[in-house]
Amino acid sequence: MPRNDIDWEKLGFGFSDVNCHIRAVWKDGEWGEFELVKDPFITMHIGASCLHYGQECFEGIKAFRQKDGRIAIFRPMENAKRMERTAIRCVMPPMPPEKFVEACDRVIAANEEFVPPYGTGGSLYIRPLLIGTGPQIGVAPAKEYTFMIMVMPVGAYYKGGMKPVRAVILDDWDRAAPHGMGDVKVGGNYAASLFAHEKAKHDGWPVELYLDAKSHQFVEEFSTSNFMGITKDGRYVTPDSCSVLPSVTNLSLRDVARDLGMTVERRPIPYTEIRDFAAVAALGTAVVITPVWEITRGSDVIRISDPDVVHPTLTKLYQTVQGIQYGEIPDTHGWCHEVSI
Ligand SMILES: *Cc1c(COP(=O)(O)O)cnc(C)c1O
Repeated sequence: MPRNDIDWEKLGFGFSDVNCHIRAVWKDGEWGEFELVKDPFITMHIGASCLHYGQECFEGIKAFRQKDGRIAIFRPMENAKRMERTAIRCVMPPMPPEKFVEACDRVIAANEEFVPPYGTGGSLYIRPLLIGTGPQIGVAPAKEYTFMIMVMPVGAYYKGGMKPVRAVILDDWDRAAPHGMGDVKVGGNYAASLFAHEKAKHDGWPVELYLDAKSHQFVEEFSTSNFMGITKDGRYVTPDSCSVLPSVTNLSLRDVARDLGMTVERRPIPYTEIRDFAAVAALGTAVVITPVWEITRGSDVIRISDPDVVHPTLTKLYQTVQGIQYGEIPDTHGWCHEVSI
């Protein structure tokens, strides 16, 4: 049962203490047993490779208390496989995907009372991490790694309807180069985007949109979420690029769009096409869909919609995914993974 000493309606998106996290260590060529750990601090060698050379990756997933009281994780296997690809790219030992999902199950079961009640719009945010913890000063992969999953309850992002935002393109900074690390979920991509993000925020734009680093002619993605446009004739368009992170939200929304009879296109999107879209949105686990009503690039201001108008297709897509997550709509694709408590 959810704890009764938490004001679920007031929860935001931030750290809060829970019972424990789960951890496993890789050394001598194999993963050790999972262990539930109460202490939120970790002790590591000062020479750990994650600290010096960025051997670090992470994931972001959500679990929901559903209408019938069950707890379900949304598509954890997709995140497990994505972390496997990221780990291989950073020469870290991947956590086998089945073990990854088992660890999610165990840490959620141990923190069951922190899964927000159905009806509050909240969820349990799941943050897996994989870091090089072995000391490594000569540049080479570490000999020891730690996998951890922390969880925390988070509140409804929209407390009353979706809220469109303004985005900005800052041509002075790139997030990821072609064939770099843009398609894997490493902390370094966030470090690479923080400076531009702070500048954008300071100047009044909550999100930044990146163009491809090579030509600055094609749309890539927002700093922490994928790009999607709806054409005037109702097609779902999203960039195809080797430096965009394959978002599980985007993957799921493309299926939902097809289920709704829409045409889905994954292809290069020239910057000049943005002004033709009927709707633009940012896609990711934390918010699912953030409508974008205006995009600024230097003196070019593209107005996509009125500031407070949400395109009905975005609303429909959002409600469908949330409906599946909360067990209100039949889960025809088998996306919800039930956690046994
Ligand atoms: C995590 C992330 C996303 C969103 O992916 P989801 O799987 O939908 O949460 C998008 N872009 C970047 C750069 C990311 O790191």
